[in-house]
Amino acid sequence: MQRAGLLLCATLLIGCGDDSSSEWTVGPATGDGGQDAPSADAAEEESPEASAADASSDAPPQEDAPTEDAPTEDAPDAAGELQGFIGSPCSSAADCKYAEAVCVTNGAVNGLCSLACTTSCPDQDGHPVTSCVEPSQVPEATSLPEGLCVSRCNFGPYPATGCREGYGCVKAARPGDPTTVRWVCLPNKSSDLPACYTELAARGVAFEPTVMKDESPNTHPNLTCHVIDPLYVESPVHGVRLESGGKETKRVLGSCRMVNALVSTADDLKPLDVIAIQHMGTYNCRVIAGTDKLSEHASGDAIDFGGFELAGGAVYTVVDDWIHDDDTPSTAGGKFLYEAAHRWYDQHIWNIILTPEYNSAHDNHFHVDMTDGSHFLGFTSGHYLGPNVYGD
Ligand SMILES: [Zn+2]
Repeated sequence: MQRAGLLLCATLLIGCGDDSSSEWTVGPATGDGGQDAPSADAAEEESPEASAADASSDAPPQEDAPTEDAPTEDAPDAAGELQGFIGSPCSSAADCKYAEAVCVTNGAVNGLCSLACTTSCPDQDGHPVTSCVEPSQVPEATSLPEGLCVSRCNFGPYPATGCREGYGCVKAARPGDPTTVRWVCLPNKSSDLPACYTELAARGVAFEPTVMKDESPNTHPNLTCHVIDPLYVESPVHGVRLESGGKETKRVLGSCRMVNALVSTADDLKPLDVIAIQHMGTYNCRVIAGTDKLSEHASGDAIDFGGFELAGGAVYTVVDDWIHDDDTPSTAGGKFLYEAAHRWYDQHIWNIILTPEYNSAHDNHFHVDMTDGSHFLGFTSGHYLGPNVYGD
Protein backbone atom coordinates (compact mmCIF):
# COMPACT_ATOMS: atom_id res chain seq x y z
CA MET A 1 0.00 0.00 0.00
CA GLN A 2 2.82 2.31 0.80
CA ARG A 3 4.21 1.90 -2.64
CA ALA A 4 0.84 2.47 -4.26
CA GLY A 5 0.44 5.64 -2.26
CA LEU A 6 3.77 6.91 -3.36
CA LEU A 7 3.07 6.16 -6.97
CA LEU A 8 -0.14 8.09 -6.56
CA CYS A 9 1.84 10.97 -5.16
CA ALA A 10 4.10 10.87 -8.16
CA THR A 11 1.20 10.66 -10.55
CA LEU A 12 -0.67 13.54 -9.03
CA LEU A 13 2.47 15.56 -8.50
CA ILE A 14 1.52 16.25 -4.96
CA GLY A 15 4.45 16.42 -2.68
CA CYS A 16 4.15 13.46 -0.38
CA GLY A 17 7.43 14.06 1.33
CA ASP A 18 7.59 14.72 5.00
CA ASP A 19 7.93 18.40 4.54
CA SER A 20 5.97 19.11 1.46
CA SER A 21 2.78 21.06 1.19
CA SER A 22 0.47 19.54 -1.32
CA GLU A 23 -1.63 22.57 -2.08
CA TRP A 24 1.34 24.54 -3.18
CA THR A 25 3.33 21.94 -4.95
CA VAL A 26 3.26 22.57 -8.65
CA GLY A 27 6.45 20.88 -9.63
CA PRO A 28 8.35 17.73 -8.85
CA ALA A 29 7.22 15.73 -5.89
CA THR A 30 9.46 16.71 -3.04
CA GLY A 31 12.43 14.52 -2.70
CA ASP A 32 11.93 12.59 0.44
CA GLY A 33 11.53 9.25 -1.17
CA GLY A 34 14.52 8.10 0.75
CA GLN A 35 12.53 7.68 3.87
CA ASP A 36 9.39 6.71 2.10
CA ALA A 37 10.66 4.45 -0.61
CA PRO A 38 8.98 1.09 -0.78
CA SER A 39 10.49 -2.09 0.45
CA ALA A 40 10.13 -5.15 -1.67
CA ASP A 41 8.78 -7.90 0.46
CA ALA A 42 9.11 -10.78 -1.91
CA ALA A 43 11.39 -9.69 -4.66
CA GLU A 44 13.07 -12.34 -6.70
CA GLU A 45 16.76 -12.14 -6.42
CA GLU A 46 17.75 -8.73 -7.65
CA SER A 47 14.56 -8.38 -9.55
CA PRO A 48 14.06 -4.79 -10.53
CA GLU A 49 11.72 -2.66 -8.53
CA ALA A 50 10.30 0.55 -9.81
CA SER A 51 11.24 2.76 -6.94
CA ALA A 52 8.98 5.57 -5.97
CA ALA A 53 12.12 7.55 -5.50
CA ASP A 54 12.38 7.60 -9.25
CA ALA A 55 9.12 9.46 -9.37
CA SER A 56 8.57 11.07 -12.68
CA SER A 57 7.26 14.55 -12.54
CA ASP A 58 6.79 15.71 -16.04
CA ALA A 59 3.04 16.11 -15.97
CA PRO A 60 1.72 19.63 -16.42
CA PRO A 61 1.17 21.86 -13.41
CA GLN A 62 -2.09 21.47 -11.63
CA GLU A 63 -4.90 23.81 -12.51
CA ASP A 64 -5.18 25.18 -9.03
CA ALA A 65 -1.54 25.95 -8.64
CA PRO A 66 -0.55 29.57 -8.25
CA THR A 67 0.05 30.52 -11.84
CA GLU A 68 -0.63 34.21 -11.91
CA ASP A 69 2.98 35.00 -12.63
CA ALA A 70 4.36 34.87 -16.10
CA PRO A 71 7.01 32.22 -16.61
CA THR A 72 9.59 34.88 -17.30
CA GLU A 73 9.37 35.88 -13.65
CA ASP A 74 11.30 32.74 -12.83
CA ALA A 75 14.04 33.25 -15.35
CA PRO A 76 17.49 33.61 -13.87
CA ASP A 77 18.80 37.12 -13.52
CA ALA A 78 22.11 38.36 -14.87
CA ALA A 79 23.92 36.58 -12.07
CA GLY A 80 22.27 33.30 -13.01
CA GLU A 81 20.11 33.29 -9.90
CA LEU A 82 16.55 32.05 -10.04
CA GLN A 83 13.98 34.72 -9.32
CA GLY A 84 10.73 35.03 -7.48
CA PHE A 85 10.53 32.00 -5.24
CA ILE A 86 11.78 30.75 -1.88
CA GLY A 87 15.55 31.07 -1.81
CA SER A 88 15.63 33.76 -4.49
CA PRO A 89 17.17 37.21 -4.04
CA CYS A 90 14.86 40.09 -3.14
CA SER A 91 14.88 43.67 -2.08
CA SER A 92 11.30 43.52 -0.79
CA ALA A 93 8.53 40.96 -0.44
CA ALA A 94 7.14 42.11 -3.79
CA ASP A 95 10.06 40.36 -5.45
CA CYS A 96 8.90 37.03 -4.00
CA LYS A 97 5.95 35.96 -6.13
CA TYR A 98 3.89 33.91 -3.72
CA ALA A 99 1.42 34.51 -0.92
CA GLU A 100 2.62 35.75 2.46
CA ALA A 101 6.16 36.09 1.19
CA VAL A 102 8.84 37.54 3.43
CA CYS A 103 12.02 39.09 2.12
CA VAL A 104 14.81 38.66 4.66
CA THR A 105 17.19 41.52 4.05
CA ASN A 106 18.83 41.92 7.42
CA GLY A 107 22.25 40.51 6.66
CA ALA A 108 21.07 37.93 4.12
CA VAL A 109 23.17 38.35 1.02
CA ASN A 110 21.14 40.14 -1.64
CA GLY A 111 17.96 39.31 0.23
CA LEU A 112 16.33 35.97 0.79
CA CYS A 113 12.78 35.17 -0.29
CA SER A 114 11.30 33.16 2.54
CA LEU A 115 8.08 32.28 4.30
CA ALA A 116 7.02 31.45 7.85
CA CYS A 117 6.72 27.72 8.50
CA THR A 118 6.61 25.15 11.24
CA THR A 119 7.16 21.89 9.34
CA SER A 120 6.58 22.19 5.60
CA CYS A 121 7.15 24.60 2.74
CA PRO A 122 5.76 24.89 -0.78
CA ASP A 123 7.70 23.87 -3.85
CA GLN A 124 7.59 25.24 -7.36
CA ASP A 125 8.63 23.73 -10.65
CA GLY A 126 11.87 25.15 -11.94
CA HIS A 127 13.15 25.95 -8.46
CA PRO A 128 15.04 23.80 -5.97
CA VAL A 129 12.92 21.87 -3.49
CA THR A 130 12.45 23.76 -0.22
CA SER A 131 12.75 22.96 3.47
CA CYS A 132 11.57 24.48 6.74
CA VAL A 133 14.51 25.12 9.06
CA GLU A 134 15.06 26.26 12.62
CA PRO A 135 15.06 30.06 12.96
CA SER A 136 18.45 29.85 14.65
CA GLN A 137 19.88 28.88 11.26
CA VAL A 138 19.13 32.35 9.90
CA PRO A 139 19.27 34.70 12.88
CA GLU A 140 18.79 37.63 10.52
CA ALA A 141 15.19 36.50 9.93
CA THR A 142 13.84 38.07 13.08
CA SER A 143 10.28 38.22 11.77
CA LEU A 144 10.09 34.43 11.42
CA PRO A 145 10.44 33.13 14.98
CA GLU A 146 8.85 29.70 14.40
CA GLY A 147 10.81 28.61 11.38
CA LEU A 148 11.55 29.74 7.86
CA CYS A 149 11.50 28.29 4.40
CA VAL A 150 14.77 28.07 2.49
CA SER A 151 15.82 26.25 -0.65
CA ARG A 152 17.67 22.97 -0.68
CA CYS A 153 21.05 22.79 -2.37
CA ASN A 154 20.83 21.92 -6.04
CA PHE A 155 23.73 21.65 -8.46
CA GLY A 156 21.46 22.09 -11.47
CA PRO A 157 20.83 25.84 -11.27
CA TYR A 158 23.92 26.40 -9.12
CA PRO A 159 26.63 24.08 -10.48
CA ALA A 160 29.53 25.51 -8.49
CA THR A 161 28.26 25.20 -4.94
CA GLY A 162 24.64 24.11 -5.12
CA CYS A 163 23.64 27.54 -3.79
CA ARG A 164 23.53 31.22 -4.69
CA GLU A 165 26.64 33.26 -4.25
CA GLY A 166 27.09 34.18 -0.60
CA TYR A 167 25.19 31.10 0.56
CA GLY A 168 26.62 27.82 1.79
CA CYS A 169 25.26 24.29 1.46
CA VAL A 170 24.92 22.94 4.99
CA LYS A 171 22.78 20.47 6.88
CA ALA A 172 19.89 21.92 8.85
CA ALA A 173 17.09 20.33 10.85
CA ARG A 174 13.39 20.98 10.70
CA PRO A 175 12.05 23.04 13.63
CA GLY A 176 11.54 20.82 16.66
CA ASP A 177 12.58 17.74 14.72
CA PRO A 178 16.34 17.26 14.91
CA THR A 179 16.13 13.90 13.12
CA THR A 180 14.75 15.42 9.92
CA VAL A 181 17.73 17.06 8.32
CA ARG A 182 18.31 18.38 4.80
CA TRP A 183 21.09 20.01 2.81
CA VAL A 184 19.95 23.61 2.46
CA CYS A 185 21.34 26.94 1.28
CA LEU A 186 21.91 29.38 4.13
CA PRO A 187 23.34 32.88 4.00
CA ASN A 188 26.79 33.60 5.31
CA LYS A 189 27.67 29.93 5.80
CA SER A 190 30.49 27.87 4.33
CA SER A 191 29.57 24.71 2.47
CA ASP A 192 30.36 21.50 4.28
CA LEU A 193 29.85 18.87 1.60
CA PRO A 194 31.39 15.38 1.45
CA ALA A 195 34.09 14.99 -1.18
CA CYS A 196 31.96 12.71 -3.34
CA TYR A 197 29.38 15.47 -3.79
CA THR A 198 31.94 18.07 -4.76
CA GLU A 199 33.59 15.64 -7.17
CA LEU A 200 30.26 14.89 -8.78
CA ALA A 201 29.49 18.59 -9.03
CA ALA A 202 32.86 19.11 -10.72
CA ARG A 203 31.74 16.67 -13.41
CA GLY A 204 28.88 18.99 -14.29
CA VAL A 205 26.09 16.82 -12.93
CA ALA A 206 22.79 18.30 -11.77
CA PHE A 207 21.75 16.81 -8.46
CA GLU A 208 20.26 17.52 -5.06
CA PRO A 209 22.21 16.11 -2.12
CA THR A 210 19.88 14.64 0.44
CA VAL A 211 19.84 13.03 3.86
CA MET A 212 18.17 9.68 4.49
CA LYS A 213 17.24 8.03 7.72
CA ASP A 214 18.31 4.43 8.04
CA GLU A 215 15.54 1.88 7.72
CA SER A 216 15.09 -1.87 7.78
CA PRO A 217 13.50 -4.31 5.36
CA ASN A 218 10.05 -5.31 6.53
CA THR A 219 11.17 -8.89 6.43
CA HIS A 220 14.42 -8.29 8.30
CA PRO A 221 14.02 -5.72 11.07
CA ASN A 222 17.48 -6.66 12.34
CA LEU A 223 19.17 -5.39 9.18
CA THR A 224 19.85 -1.73 8.42
CA CYS A 225 19.70 -0.04 5.04
CA HIS A 226 22.12 2.85 5.03
CA VAL A 227 22.99 5.01 2.03
CA ILE A 228 26.31 6.83 2.00
CA ASP A 229 26.09 10.33 0.53
CA PRO A 230 22.59 9.95 -0.93
CA LEU A 231 21.39 12.25 -3.67
CA TYR A 232 18.81 12.77 -6.36
CA VAL A 233 20.46 12.94 -9.75
CA GLU A 234 18.49 14.81 -12.38
CA SER A 235 17.83 13.65 -15.91
CA PRO A 236 19.45 14.01 -18.37
CA VAL A 237 22.85 12.87 -17.13
CA HIS A 238 25.57 14.27 -19.40
CA GLY A 239 23.01 14.41 -22.19
CA VAL A 240 21.58 10.92 -21.67
CA ARG A 241 17.98 10.76 -20.44
CA LEU A 242 16.94 8.49 -17.62
CA GLU A 243 13.70 6.69 -18.30
CA SER A 244 11.53 4.21 -16.49
CA GLY A 245 8.27 2.70 -17.63
CA GLY A 246 8.43 4.61 -20.90
CA LYS A 247 8.70 8.02 -19.25
CA GLU A 248 11.55 10.23 -18.29
CA THR A 249 12.40 10.08 -14.60
CA LYS A 250 13.32 13.58 -13.58
CA ARG A 251 15.14 12.50 -10.45
CA VAL A 252 16.71 9.21 -9.44
CA LEU A 253 17.76 8.43 -5.88
CA GLY A 254 21.02 6.66 -5.19
CA SER A 255 24.33 6.82 -3.43
CA CYS A 256 26.84 9.34 -4.69
CA ARG A 257 29.30 6.69 -5.79
CA MET A 258 26.60 4.82 -7.69
CA VAL A 259 25.64 8.01 -9.47
CA ASN A 260 29.29 8.67 -10.28
CA ALA A 261 29.34 5.31 -12.05
CA LEU A 262 26.06 6.12 -13.74
CA VAL A 263 27.61 9.30 -15.11
CA SER A 264 30.56 7.29 -16.41
CA THR A 265 28.09 4.91 -18.02
CA ALA A 266 26.39 7.82 -19.75
CA ASP A 267 29.79 9.06 -20.92
CA ASP A 268 30.53 5.60 -22.26
CA LEU A 269 27.24 5.35 -24.14
CA LYS A 270 26.85 8.87 -25.49
CA PRO A 271 29.44 8.46 -28.27
CA LEU A 272 27.42 5.45 -29.42
CA ASP A 273 24.44 7.75 -29.95
CA VAL A 274 22.60 6.54 -26.89
CA ILE A 275 20.03 9.14 -25.88
CA ALA A 276 18.28 7.32 -23.04
CA ILE A 277 18.93 4.65 -20.45
CA GLN A 278 15.89 2.67 -19.41
CA HIS A 279 16.34 1.80 -15.76
CA MET A 280 14.28 -0.44 -13.54
CA GLY A 281 15.09 0.58 -10.01
CA THR A 282 17.79 1.95 -7.74
CA TYR A 283 17.42 2.33 -3.99
CA ASN A 284 15.29 -0.33 -2.37
CA CYS A 285 15.65 -1.46 1.24
CA ARG A 286 15.49 -5.22 0.81
CA VAL A 287 17.48 -8.43 1.00
CA ILE A 288 18.54 -10.60 -1.90
CA ALA A 289 15.67 -13.03 -2.24
CA GLY A 290 16.23 -16.31 -0.49
CA THR A 291 19.00 -14.88 1.67
CA ASP A 292 19.45 -12.78 4.78
CA LYS A 293 21.90 -10.54 2.98
CA LEU A 294 21.08 -6.98 2.05
CA SER A 295 20.97 -6.26 -1.67
CA GLU A 296 23.27 -3.57 -3.00
CA HIS A 297 20.02 -1.79 -3.84
CA ALA A 298 19.52 -1.42 -0.08
CA SER A 299 22.48 0.94 0.08
CA GLY A 300 21.60 2.81 -3.11
CA ASP A 301 24.72 1.34 -4.68
CA ALA A 302 22.97 -0.55 -7.47
CA ILE A 303 20.83 0.18 -10.51
CA ASP A 304 19.14 -2.09 -13.03
CA PHE A 305 19.33 -1.28 -16.74
CA GLY A 306 16.56 -2.67 -18.93
CA GLY A 307 17.48 -1.10 -22.25
CA PHE A 308 19.05 1.68 -24.24
CA GLU A 309 17.58 4.06 -26.81
CA LEU A 310 19.63 5.36 -29.71
CA ALA A 311 19.27 8.62 -31.58
CA GLY A 312 18.35 6.80 -34.77
CA GLY A 313 15.31 5.24 -33.12
CA ALA A 314 16.73 1.84 -32.26
CA VAL A 315 15.98 0.52 -28.78
CA TYR A 316 18.06 -2.33 -27.48
CA THR A 317 16.55 -4.11 -24.52
CA VAL A 318 18.20 -6.79 -22.48
CA VAL A 319 15.15 -9.02 -22.63
CA ASP A 320 14.76 -8.87 -26.42
CA ASP A 321 18.23 -8.25 -27.76
CA TRP A 322 20.62 -10.15 -25.52
CA ILE A 323 21.91 -13.23 -27.31
CA HIS A 324 22.41 -16.14 -24.94
CA ASP A 325 25.53 -18.29 -24.96
CA ASP A 326 27.19 -16.27 -27.66
CA ASP A 327 30.57 -14.57 -27.40
CA THR A 328 30.27 -13.08 -30.86
CA PRO A 329 26.67 -11.93 -31.22
CA SER A 330 25.96 -10.89 -34.77
CA THR A 331 22.83 -8.80 -34.24
CA ALA A 332 23.29 -5.08 -33.70
CA GLY A 333 21.47 -5.19 -30.36
CA GLY A 334 23.25 -8.31 -29.17
CA LYS A 335 26.63 -6.84 -30.06
CA PHE A 336 25.79 -3.53 -28.42
CA LEU A 337 24.75 -5.15 -25.13
CA TYR A 338 27.59 -7.66 -25.04
CA GLU A 339 30.21 -5.02 -25.71
CA ALA A 340 28.70 -2.53 -23.27
CA ALA A 341 28.86 -5.01 -20.39
CA HIS A 342 32.45 -5.87 -21.23
CA ARG A 343 33.53 -2.24 -21.54
CA TRP A 344 32.06 -1.38 -18.16
CA TYR A 345 33.88 -4.38 -16.72
CA ASP A 346 37.19 -3.56 -18.40
CA GLN A 347 36.98 0.09 -17.40
CA HIS A 348 36.01 -0.73 -13.80
CA ILE A 349 32.95 1.51 -14.06
CA TRP A 350 30.88 -0.98 -12.06
CA ASN A 351 32.29 -3.49 -9.62
CA ILE A 352 29.63 -6.09 -10.34
CA ILE A 353 27.73 -6.53 -13.60
CA LEU A 354 25.09 -9.26 -13.77
CA THR A 355 23.75 -10.17 -17.20
CA PRO A 356 21.18 -12.65 -18.51
CA GLU A 357 24.01 -15.16 -18.56
CA TYR A 358 24.28 -14.95 -14.78
CA ASN A 359 20.87 -16.38 -13.96
CA SER A 360 17.28 -16.19 -15.09
CA ALA A 361 16.47 -13.42 -12.63
CA HIS A 362 18.52 -11.15 -14.88
CA ASP A 363 16.95 -12.11 -18.14
CA ASN A 364 15.49 -8.65 -18.63
CA HIS A 365 18.11 -6.36 -17.11
CA PHE A 366 21.72 -5.73 -16.30
CA HIS A 367 22.18 -5.41 -12.57
CA VAL A 368 25.22 -3.19 -11.90
CA ASP A 369 26.53 -2.21 -8.50
CA MET A 370 29.43 -0.88 -6.47
CA THR A 371 30.21 -3.86 -4.19
CA ASP A 372 33.48 -3.11 -2.44
CA GLY A 373 36.43 -5.19 -3.52
CA SER A 374 34.62 -6.87 -6.40
CA HIS A 375 35.38 -6.93 -10.08
CA PHE A 376 32.90 -9.32 -11.53
CA LEU A 377 31.07 -9.79 -14.78
CA GLY A 378 28.27 -12.31 -14.45
CA PHE A 379 28.40 -14.81 -17.26
CA THR A 380 27.78 -18.50 -16.75
CA SER A 381 28.35 -19.94 -20.18
CA GLY A 382 32.04 -20.48 -19.68
CA HIS A 383 32.74 -16.81 -19.28
CA TYR A 384 33.25 -16.40 -15.57
CA LEU A 385 35.55 -13.48 -14.97
CA GLY A 386 35.51 -13.60 -11.20
CA PRO A 387 34.04 -15.31 -8.19
CA ASN A 388 30.34 -15.94 -7.95
CA VAL A 389 29.83 -13.48 -5.18
CA TYR A 390 26.16 -14.17 -4.77
CA GLY A 391 26.69 -17.88 -4.22
CA ASP A 392 24.04 -18.55 -6.77
ZN1 LIG B 1 19.55 -5.02 -9.33
